[in-house]
Amino acid sequence: MPIGPMARRKKARRKRPSVARHEAIYICDSCGEDIVVLVDVSAGSHQDYVEDCPVCCHPMHLRVEIAPDGEARVEGEHE
Ligand SMILES: [Zn+2]
Repeated sequence: MPIGPMARRKKARRKRPSVARHEAIYICDSCGEDIVVLVDVSAGSHQDYVEDCPVCCHPMHLRVEIAPDGEARVEGEHE
């Protein structure tokens, strides 16, 4: 996996709540970090939006799917 020059910047760690179903993780194509996103499950079972990576600021196209059990999954790819 290619590691970008920004990979050494400090990781954005945050405390994870015990209920994880509204969180999903994608791996940034640009810096290779695991990025935790908070998913608004009330916004629909299929969501599609662009968000800057909080680590390297590269715009990522995120595709979110909410499974029938409420579990959120997200895929990120370069915009
Ligand atoms: Zn990144």
